[in-house]
Amino acid sequence: ISRSSTETRKPQDPTLGGLLPDLSEFDSGGSCKSRSQQPHRKNYFQPSNELIRRLRRYEARHVKCAARAARNFFQPGEFQDDDCRYVVWTQASGFGNRMITLVSSFVYALLTDRTLLVERTEETAVLFCEPFPRASWLLPSEFPVEFIYSLNETSPHRFAHNFTDDQGGRDNSTETADFSYINLTWTHDDEDNTFFCDENHVQLERVPWVFMRSDQYIVPSYFFLSRFTSDLGALFPDKEAVFNLLGNYLFQPSDAVWPRITRYYRSYLANYDRFLGIQIRTYQAKSPLPNFSQQLQQCILQNNLLPKVVADGDSVDISGLREPKNGSTAVLVTSLDSYYYDNLTEYYLSGPTENGESVTIHQPSHDGAQQTGVASHDLKAWAEIYLLSLSDSLIISGWSTFGYAANGLAGIRPWILPNVNDDRVHDPPCVYAKSVEPCNFAFPFRLFKCPSKDVSDDRNFTFVQPCVDYTDGMKLV
Ligand code: GDP
Repeated sequence: ISRSSTETRKPQDPTLGGLLPDLSEFDSGGSCKSRSQQPHRKNYFQPSNELIRRLRRYEARHVKCAARAARNFFQPGEFQDDDCRYVVWTQASGFGNRMITLVSSFVYALLTDRTLLVERTEETAVLFCEPFPRASWLLPSEFPVEFIYSLNETSPHRFAHNFTDDQGGRDNSTETADFSYINLTWTHDDEDNTFFCDENHVQLERVPWVFMRSDQYIVPSYFFLSRFTSDLGALFPDKEAVFNLLGNYLFQPSDAVWPRITRYYRSYLANYDRFLGIQIRTYQAKSPLPNFSQQLQQCILQNNLLPKVVADGDSVDISGLREPKNGSTAVLVTSLDSYYYDNLTEYYLSGPTENGESVTIHQPSHDGAQQTGVASHDLKAWAEIYLLSLSDSLIISGWSTFGYAANGLAGIRPWILPNVNDDRVHDPPCVYAKSVEPCNFAFPFRLFKCPSKDVSDDRNFTFVQPCVDYTDGMKLV
């Protein structure tokens, strides 16, 4: 991994080693200051030459095909020779889920030479910069909202399902180009999962439009499809780099959120020697959870992520400008709750640290509950994922795509707190992740039953392994 040194303070390469297009490719009237102001702390794996080449090829095709999208869909008969094919991302679940599914759809686009278009949502239309030069990634406005809503479990276009006329809803799409709806949300069944069978991609290849809805990071499954494996090997020689590279490629904070990020960073995080990020996500109705707070503290101390507090408290000298002995660490806590921040702050105010290091705790917001779709709430979520991604080390909560998105962008393996469903403190309190990649919590073990597969379901693979926070999930390592 190439880590930009915070000591040398050279300007960060705005293309991140050739991953991003040259700044001059973007419309100068565009609203994306973050693109030219990549922070020093940004970490990224070195992109392979093949990935760089394919991204530039993708961008050229995107310009051509995005411009023709509405016409190709609604007047298909008139343009038989067109070689543009599309994959359309549609939304499901919260911010982290959306980031991991956007990357999943984009990998599919790269592998199949399709053009990625995305449903207009707060994040795709407002909070992220347009990722591709000279053309939008937004699904053209000619696509009615009702059409997107009609893509659900009962759609006659649902992939691998054959509805008869009186089963499921019918839509009025006979005038459109041929399309398939891939349903990989929490409602998916075994038939939907045949999307992960090689033979079905022969059929899908001929379908010009593929609409996808998912809440999972499905990239690990692509590595099992023989038609994609050699391509994936060339694009990502390091398999744990996929989300880091494509997340940093797709997601630049727009000018709507960049000032909040930079102001917060400058005020609270820039002037410390070290920066630890902590993301706390609990799913229980009764929150906060004292056990989780205790578990967090044990995770920190057992793994020496922060110094211990010792009993004999002397006051700290603030008469001069003496630097704290052994440096300083800024801790960024993100959570819907302020309880974990309060407890950690209390701990570091209760006495001096054993080595004299100063520890400062910050939390930018605590909105109480998830409010996906509320503009100001989503803005905070993105700002916080981005800020966490600038940390030197990270503790994230098990089961949470919010945390996985942050550590994936950060390009660092996090410490993962097992999710607490019960009233006990887990031992060990946290586990070091096996890779930088997000977990696929709904790994389609069904793919081992594909007609083309000749592998046993023994889960002994070298390139995917069970996730430490969810052993039925799998991640690239
Ligand atoms: P997951 O549900 O943990 O997998 O993560 P998602 O990001 O998909 O959904 C959780 C949503 O809850 C986020 O998108 C935010 O809207 C909100 N949320 C959860 N944790 C935080 C947090 O630490 N900070 C902020 N600002 N929002 C959060």
